[in-house]
Amino acid sequence: MTIATRLRTTCPYCGVGCGIIATPPGTITGDPTHPANFGRLCSKGAALAETLADGPDRLLRPRIRGRDASWGEALDLVAARFEETVARHGPDSVAFYVSGQFLTEDYYVANKLMKGFIGSANIDTNSRLCMASSVAGHVRAFGEDVVPGCYEDLELADLVVLVGSNAAWCHPVLFQRLAAAKQARGTRIVVVEPRRTATCETADLHLPLRAGTDVALFAGLLVHLADHGRIAREWVARHTSGLGEALATARETAGSPARVAAITGLAEADIAAFYAMFAATGRTVTIYSQGVNQSSSGTDKVNAIVNSHLATARIGRPGMGPFSVTGQPNAMGGREVGGMANQLAAHMGFTDADDIDRVRRFWHAPRIASHPGLKAVELFDAVAAGRIKAIWIMATNPAASMPRGGAVQAALEHCPFVVVSDCWDSGDTARLAHVLLPAAGWGEKNGTVTNSERRISRQRAFRTPPGEARPDWWMLAEVARRMGWGDAFAYRGPADIFREHAALSAFENEGGRRRAFDIGALATLTDAGYDAMEPVRWPFPSAAAVSRTAARANSAAEIRGRLFADGGFFTPDRRARFVATAWRPPAVAPDDAYPLVLNTGRVRDQWHTMSRTGRVPRLMAHVDAPFLALYPDDATWFGLADGDLARVESRFGDAILPVRVSAEQRPGSVFAPMHWNDAFSSAGPIGRLVGDAVDPVSGQPELKATPVRVAPVDAQWHGLLLRGRRRGNGDSDGGGSGGAGWSPGRGFYWARMPVDGGEAFALAGWDDLPEPGAALDGWAAALLGAPPDGERLEYADRRRGSFRYASIAKGQVEAILFVARHGGGLPSRGTLAAFLNEDAASSQTRAGVLAGRPRGSAPEPSDGPVVCSCFSVGLHALTRAIAAGDVASVAEIGAAMQAGTNCGSCVPELAKILRDALAPAGGRMASAAAEGRAAG
Ligand code: SF4
Repeated sequence: MTIATRLRTTCPYCGVGCGIIATPPGTITGDPTHPANFGRLCSKGAALAETLADGPDRLLRPRIRGRDASWGEALDLVAARFEETVARHGPDSVAFYVSGQFLTEDYYVANKLMKGFIGSANIDTNSRLCMASSVAGHVRAFGEDVVPGCYEDLELADLVVLVGSNAAWCHPVLFQRLAAAKQARGTRIVVVEPRRTATCETADLHLPLRAGTDVALFAGLLVHLADHGRIAREWVARHTSGLGEALATARETAGSPARVAAITGLAEADIAAFYAMFAATGRTVTIYSQGVNQSSSGTDKVNAIVNSHLATARIGRPGMGPFSVTGQPNAMGGREVGGMANQLAAHMGFTDADDIDRVRRFWHAPRIASHPGLKAVELFDAVAAGRIKAIWIMATNPAASMPRGGAVQAALEHCPFVVVSDCWDSGDTARLAHVLLPAAGWGEKNGTVTNSERRISRQRAFRTPPGEARPDWWMLAEVARRMGWGDAFAYRGPADIFREHAALSAFENEGGRRRAFDIGALATLTDAGYDAMEPVRWPFPSAAAVSRTAARANSAAEIRGRLFADGGFFTPDRRARFVATAWRPPAVAPDDAYPLVLNTGRVRDQWHTMSRTGRVPRLMAHVDAPFLALYPDDATWFGLADGDLARVESRFGDAILPVRVSAEQRPGSVFAPMHWNDAFSSAGPIGRLVGDAVDPVSGQPELKATPVRVAPVDAQWHGLLLRGRRRGNGDSDGGGSGGAGWSPGRGFYWARMPVDGGEAFALAGWDDLPEPGAALDGWAAALLGAPPDGERLEYADRRRGSFRYASIAKGQVEAILFVARHGGGLPSRGTLAAFLNEDAASSQTRAGVLAGRPRGSAPEPSDGPVVCSCFSVGLHALTRAIAAGDVASVAEIGAAMQAGTNCGSCVPELAKILRDALAPAGGRMASAAAEGRAAG
């Protein structure tokens, strides 16, 4: 089933929140009318149509301890166990762990049930891993969690500073808007980031600072602004407080460029250039993302950045402001409903007794929570300690994504009652559930999401959920009804929930004067109005409420765009707060035992734990396996070369990963992507290596500064396994399911990758292969999944250590295995995949499959890893074309090879490939090494 009806909706991935048009039977395009993207989509959004097929791991009906159950039975059990646990152990003995993938309506109902009716604030969200430090920083500075600016500011700015943000890969459409502005008006771009990422290709200045030193850089900037007469004294005096203390602390921590250089590892000249640029440029936007947030000093980093903007009054005006961009599609919506443990609802909190009472009265809540609940890391610690005895995990996979994922997994294994609602049953967390509830996914449910610029957009259903899958808000409301609160949860649909949410935002809010988050104008939408709702940015108070509030600083029309140009902050005295931020290093420093710093993050074409993007062959072609990137000198020091296997080990866990030697790394720092997990690789989630340090204010884990050590792992053999879709027999293993239950096993490295017609596994082993003959054949048969009555083709070259097998069943090639000792050559998986499901009676097929190429053909040069996933243009094809003189610019590449001409996500990489290829031999590596040494 694909798309049943044409409609406008939004992308389910990142916080840019692009509008899309879904057209039957299966086309997804960018929505030219949506103000976030004006028709553009990145590589992930452009491949959404390819994610719509349900794999064999799609959860279709409720399950209790592995057996199918009715909804009634499953919901009765969930309600009874939560009720019983609360009765015996109190409300804080239960918890919800939810997700930035939730729609706002799901979030609202979950929060209301836990905080207003169960009576605990033990509901936290995976957004804690994403942007909790930004929330905390905003609240400290502005009195409320508000992003003051909008996307248009990136196009109006003269200087854009990206801090801890690889926007070219992680917020590609927003980055393309910025790149277009740079082309049109010469916007200067500074990137503050330890690695040389794709974003740096467009930058005028890259500051590869040491991990966790951003506070020092921005404290030094505040000092520079003060010493060079750049403080907006009048505005600061009228609208802020605390500059004196913040400046004094900044002088203590980073009083001179030399001191900043010593802390950050940056060259003084680069620091001076950045400070001069910032001081001289009125229209400056500072974008910050996970590199800032995922730190034990994340909240201070946010405030150090905000301090610089407050000091210069660069906030809330066109082309100016601090700008947090969120990772998830609805992290902002979750913040609006209070989906985190330290929030209440509608931007109200636990620090004000009036807020608690206000929400209680609005909800008619029988036992409202009166204190914050457990934040994510604390929450799973409480599960491990037995204090949380029943947990409901919704739309997220904490066993893979949480730091110390192994401990989280162990905690859930011992938790008395675990409920998981999800679309798939194959996730690392779903396997631990006592009760599994089938959730409707993207394209199957209705609601709203809010993107990083406060814009609320509708997500609309364009197909019926498969099987018995239902939306999360419905499950929650049904459990609430069974727990005795049916009247408070008697929603007919998401429109009812949204109206209540909007009404709460306006409740005793004086037209948005008390709380910026006011969407009262939407509280009276009809069902039809909700269905037709256009994207709208908040605040959006009702006109009547605004007109009743004579003291309002700005008109509703003005505030819907930007906030705070003329003050009006949401602190008791309406002044913003400078926050004194003293630099402190990451929680745990590297030492002799663990000398390197592990950074984790995203790659361009994958999303979170790959449950959706990991099913799309062309998205997996860009980066097809997990890796550990090391700086060349570090690789040499540890005896590693490109493609080797390395064991990376922290105090919390270890993994064996293929090595990528990269001059883009900062010396002393290694990088591994966050996406791969047990379903996709033997290496498992990299979060297992990350420790327990969190930011003391926000509770956000430090995911980018874990001390590790690395050591070579000698690979004795490499292999390539392909398994096709089984046809007509209901056997659903393999089949490109991207996360289905089958995996090659333990004791060697593997990484799963979907291919047309099935799936492939890259293999490598550190123990020798089984002895050729019966032992090796048996081992191969197990990997091939060969049916006992099936035919097998074999080829062995014992002298070279090369062994090849193909399994044939029902007249088709079902599985192929090539293994080679000591780096013997393997064909590309694309070449082998072409034989999957082919007619095995054909002599062409039989001869070709074991030769590893179509019969009679010469080996073709590999196109290499895919750079442009829209047109499948590989790295080697690009470098060949450049070397031949066929192309010499990104535009010429586009004209000759189409690369970069559709979604544009690969344009920064094309620029880098050109630059590297056209540089004098050895020049790029030499200059990168020099740059790294200077920085170090
Ligand atoms: Fe989706 Fe890409 Fe837009 Fe993000 S930038 S919302 S991933 S299309």
